[in-house]
Amino acid sequence: MVHVGIGYDVHALVEGRPLILGGVAIPHSKGLKGHSDADVLMHAICDAVLGAIGERDIGQFFPDTDPRWKGTSSKLFLEEARRQVELHKGRLVNVDATIIAEQPKLNPHVDAMKGNIADALRLPPERVGIKATTNERIGFLGREEGIAATAVASVDINP
Ligand code: MG
Repeated sequence: MVHVGIGYDVHALVEGRPLILGGVAIPHSKGLKGHSDADVLMHAICDAVLGAIGERDIGQFFPDTDPRWKGTSSKLFLEEARRQVELHKGRLVNVDATIIAEQPKLNPHVDAMKGNIADALRLPPERVGIKATTNERIGFLGREEGIAATAVASVDINP
């Protein structure tokens, strides 16, 4: 039986931080603020995967109060989400995500992001959907105060 999960995350854009999305360092004047590398895309996908197996959010596994996860690559979080699927005797079918960012242009980096996420989840890249859109200059995302991501995941679990 196929189970689905949903994930959402947002991080503030600040000066003096690298911009890491889908494990790719993207040249930009600002980066995302957070305890880890603040990879909002990987965080949303983590929560979608965990949601599909009825687990709690990634913050329950990697609390932002724990100094071990300071500045850590979020690829580690995705690998843990994949491990949790295995513990639930599930098989990840696919993930799909949308990044909402006014700037910078992300399309040139999407293939590299897909590769990193597919690698962490041990999925073929064609099972990893990544889209990028703007917020049409509306609201905090439109004012470039942050970047958000939404994701879904499906996991096949034998009943
Ligand atoms: Mg996050």
